Amino acid sequence: MTRDAPVQPREGLRELAGYHSPQLDVAVRLNTNESPYPPPPAFVDAWLAALRAVPLNRYPDRDAHALRSALADHLGQPVERVFCANGSNEVLQTLLLTYGGSGRRVVTFEPTYALHSHIARITGTEVVAAARRADFGINPEAAAGVMSMARPVVVFACSPNNPTGTVEPAATIEALLAATDGLVVVDEAYGEFADRSAMEQVTDDGRLVVVRTYSKVWSMAALRLGFCIAPPWLVAELEKVVLPYHLAVPTQLAGTLALEFKSEMDARIELLVRERARLVEALATVDSVTPFPSGANFVLVRVAGDAHAVWERLVAKGVLVRDFSAWPRLEGCLRVTVGTTEENDAFLAALRGAVEEVAA
Ligand code: PMP
Repeated sequence: MTRDAPVQPREGLRELAGYHSPQLDVAVRLNTNESPYPPPPAFVDAWLAALRAVPLNRYPDRDAHALRSALADHLGQPVERVFCANGSNEVLQTLLLTYGGSGRRVVTFEPTYALHSHIARITGTEVVAAARRADFGINPEAAAGVMSMARPVVVFACSPNNPTGTVEPAATIEALLAATDGLVVVDEAYGEFADRSAMEQVTDDGRLVVVRTYSKVWSMAALRLGFCIAPPWLVAELEKVVLPYHLAVPTQLAGTLALEFKSEMDARIELLVRERARLVEALATVDSVTPFPSGANFVLVRVAGDAHAVWERLVAKGVLVRDFSAWPRLEGCLRVTVGTTEENDAFLAALRGAVEEVAA
């Protein structure tokens, strides 16, 4: 809190807590859902070579045309539906700068990605938090009830949901669209790890937006690139709001060149999905630990007993996961990112030890 500061932020921002994901210096870092693998060396070489040829005194292509066209081809979508920004967080922020604001409401389904409500509040948009079912899926009938009261301008449906891993069926997305006049924003930051995507449901005259990122599958969290697939009329509005030249040349080049490494990335997805299955199976054999089904590159587990104490023991053993046990509805819950086989084995061994120590 900055009570004594000589100038206070705008009303509505004063009590806001920042977004925190604590980092600790440990050997096995499985807390932020990054890819455990760096990008392929051939990609890095191609990117650096392309960068060397760029006239750095010139502004970047404001329309990011090469990147958007390459992405459109890659996804089988028209280029007019592609909007890119510095991480999917900037996509979400631009959506709310454009459609949120005073007197407007968004609906979120909790527990979910904290940045949806955080950015809404920063943009002066009221947040109506609806509850997920006990299995963490969205209940379409309950959602319709909330939306008829709230009349939101944006409904956020994170799928696979962070931090629970839950994947929404196409019918739920359709039901949400039918129950609101507003936008339905499906945050698919982990979409490539799931067996279904809402991207095929996007239409030119609809209100569905699907948000994706290069931070996970493309191993480019450091570069900050995200995008959405949205109706062209909406992309045109976002382009008016976002800062000119917001996407730097290194980011645009990286995003374009990465797509040439599709087969390497597909192999990594396959590997991580296989490791996720192995992790879930192994977790189910750990005493007093229950894993939730996941369509993402992480797994949420519920620990019977003191989950925070288990988290502390894990840190002491050199393994960092994310502690959600203080969150409403997530009592006893820890979230582990799927890492390399060695990292996952280290985590499983540490977890067995930590659970035993805490139970003793
Ligand atoms: N959406 C969700 C659901 C996420 O979990 C994350 C990353 N934590 C993001 C968006 C933001 O990703 P980035 O800004 O790196 O694209």
